[in-house]
Amino acid sequence: MAHDEPAKKTPARLLIRNIGLLLSGNLEQPILDADTVVAVDGKIAAVGKAKDVDAEGATLIIDARGTTLAPGLIDSHVHPVAGDWTPRQNQIGWIDSYLHGGVTTMISAGEVHTPGRPKDVVGLKAMAIFAQRAFSAFRPGGVRIHAGAPVIEHGMVEEDFKDLAAAGVTMLGEVGLGSVKDGATARQMVAWARKFGIQSTIHTGGPSIPGSSLIDKDIVLAADADVIGHINGGHTALPDNQIVTLCEESSRALEVVHNGNERAALLTLRTATELKQLGRVIVGTDSPAGSGVQPLGILRMISMLSSLGGISAEVAFCFATGNTAKIRQLGCGEIAPDRDATFMMIDKAQHSAGKTVLESIQRGDLPGIGMVIVDGVVSAQRSRNTPPATTSPEIVPGR
Ligand SMILES: [Zn+2]
Repeated sequence: MAHDEPAKKTPARLLIRNIGLLLSGNLEQPILDADTVVAVDGKIAAVGKAKDVDAEGATLIIDARGTTLAPGLIDSHVHPVAGDWTPRQNQIGWIDSYLHGGVTTMISAGEVHTPGRPKDVVGLKAMAIFAQRAFSAFRPGGVRIHAGAPVIEHGMVEEDFKDLAAAGVTMLGEVGLGSVKDGATARQMVAWARKFGIQSTIHTGGPSIPGSSLIDKDIVLAADADVIGHINGGHTALPDNQIVTLCEESSRALEVVHNGNERAALLTLRTATELKQLGRVIVGTDSPAGSGVQPLGILRMISMLSSLGGISAEVAFCFATGNTAKIRQLGCGEIAPDRDATFMMIDKAQHSAGKTVLESIQRGDLPGIGMVIVDGVVSAQRSRNTPPATTSPEIVPGR
């Protein structure tokens, strides 16, 4: 027996059929004319009409029952600390709660709430590498957390960024939350990070909590980080003319967050629309934070931007899926062949005045989530946190 080949594993084939509406997450074509998706071993294999798709050999069949399939949501701005606990509001299970708000991927903007966070160079590097390792091995409810985002401090040299990249660190925490608050130093360190493939985000606006500080448009433009983090403040926003200048003079991503200034978020959206640069708009919660943790925060942003910002709901979904995936270079966020089979299935909430799920969102309501699928596996059925969906998908039994 010692020479036997290891038994070939039967590929896991997921079939989702009877999809009523398919939101792609891709701004170029946010609605696809398709009712069937097949995924093999966690990756999308086919998207199309039932008659055109090879649906044979499914190991898991989901009947969407005419509901809407969308990519799982990406929260572009979270502050995780240790596992599924946040000391900021001393809450356990917050990540699992977000899964029930459709969030399947989170991006750390720095593990800054860690009690006793080290600020010396060796210590901050060690903490980032630890967080990267810990969160890649721990996925509450299946949620993938990209963490290990060091906050830059004075004294770091080019070699430190090389070491971090070699150790698996792929992004910086918010520039400006550490001792580096001047444009010249931030620009140098952001450039070193970029040289070694590490992406960067900068804090924008007034201080978030005691100990953080103002980062204005001049520092943001000088630093030239890849993502203008919470351009609508976290919570305190810059004056309107500075926000407009950032939209116009930088080509970097415009991140709007739930725990920010809603009016400033709408100004950003309006400016990006005028510039015809909606591809730059991405969404986060900036949570856990002083204003709490919001399991439905990303859904609330989609609804807010759509209903008050005059953006169609299918486009607003792209801000929290395909746009973020493109800017953050992720395999999820879009329903297309070879992308991750990571989805949420939604329907209009029971008794919403909107006639369709999209219309209900454009009227400011939240959709109900009937199922969340991560890497081809059902992670949650009817959400415990959203208003109940009018219709929920079903797992077809007997397989
Ligand atoms: Zn911030």
